[in-house]
Amino acid sequence: MKPLRRAAILAVGSELLTPSRLDTNSLHITEQLNLLGIDVVFKSVIGDDREELARAIRGALDRADLVVCSGGLGPTDDDVTRDVVAAVLGRPLAEDERITARIRARFEARGLRMPDINRRQAMVPAGAVVLHNPNGTAPGLWLEEGDRVIVLLPGPPRELKGILAALVEGELRARASGLAIVRRTVRVAGRTESHTEEAVRPLYNERAQAAVPVTATILASLGQIELHLSARAASREQAEAAVDLASRQVEEALGLDAFSRDGRTLEEVVGALLVERGLRIAVAESCTGGLLTSRLTDVAGSSRYVDCGVVAYANEEKTALLGVPAALIEAHGAVSEPVAVAMAEGVRARAGTDVGVGVTGIAGPGGGTPLKPVGTVAVAAAMPQQTRSRLFRFVGDRQLVKFQASQAALDLVRRMLLQ
Ligand code: AMP
Ligand code: MG
Repeated sequence: MKPLRRAAILAVGSELLTPSRLDTNSLHITEQLNLLGIDVVFKSVIGDDREELARAIRGALDRADLVVCSGGLGPTDDDVTRDVVAAVLGRPLAEDERITARIRARFEARGLRMPDINRRQAMVPAGAVVLHNPNGTAPGLWLEEGDRVIVLLPGPPRELKGILAALVEGELRARASGLAIVRRTVRVAGRTESHTEEAVRPLYNERAQAAVPVTATILASLGQIELHLSARAASREQAEAAVDLASRQVEEALGLDAFSRDGRTLEEVVGALLVERGLRIAVAESCTGGLLTSRLTDVAGSSRYVDCGVVAYANEEKTALLGVPAALIEAHGAVSEPVAVAMAEGVRARAGTDVGVGVTGIAGPGGGTPLKPVGTVAVAAAMPQQTRSRLFRFVGDRQLVKFQASQAALDLVRRMLLQ
């Protein structure tokens, strides 16, 4: 049998063609297939439309060895994937009584009668293998047509993941080429995209020529840059060794600016450093309105090091809650390094923590002046040995300025903790 190398993903569901719902299943499917060395060569989002879906399935079978469909296996009339695939392959559908019994039992376990329409979910095209769904009613289906494989998975992400995980351990692994693709992401703060590119370009060129070549792409968004490294090799171990070496070299080239090569976010990295050093942190925020504290507390276990977050938006509250002298605000303006420092030191003293952070800025769109335009943000961190502050000029809209301000504050704390 020819190994499966090229996959197509069809995400089915009219809701996925509206601005309200995003197709995330295809990202998960891609990740899982890549682990087996199967490349996704294209993907499509198709509404609940028989004609469109039939056309997409025919096209996918032309171009790929493996077609993975997500969605459209529900019990209602708009769920057409099962019917259309059966029609395209010319396979009659028949009810599988064992599936009906299992669906009925699921309803009865909740004290409910199975609606008759759920029988649709027990319809199986001739020759299909039924894939057990431990998390829902609709089973997945595995069909073979010559050398090609078609997999139908239910749309709800939890259900899809359960079925796919079993396939990746079983049938799909057996049918894949044995080549493994491994990806790794290095995250960078405090550097622009072109400065990052400049530092790592020679490495890319070297790694691309290696026995196990590593390819690299750079993804820049405001406040954060990601380097995606990827290697394909005969075994997972070889691919992992290659990206490991590449990511270590990238880290060396970028120094302190590279903050994670294991997928961790900046707040997770800062949290781990605080735990390691047995320190607690208190935060005083103005323009970020709680975002910084929110990000710090997104991390499970953050109660070990987060003491408090104070949102002091009005100048009077910077004085009342944090002890920032009114004269200091008068002299330098609320958005200034001295005020950020006084906020950091104030919250640190009042909370009695090791680390204090202050953030104050102009998120816009209004409130800017020629000297302090929108995007001006002052950040400070106070620690036992020293207090440091910096003034930034960020670009972007209000949300982006807030995000970059929180990123800059976390990054300042990280750099000070690493010294
Ligand atoms: P379905 O299997 O088409 O009945 O899908 C059931 C539900 O799963 C939908 O209402 C969505 O909430 C979710 N869903 C379907 N397809 C996707 C997808 N590609 N990505 C993320 N969620 C999805
Ligand atoms: Mg649907």
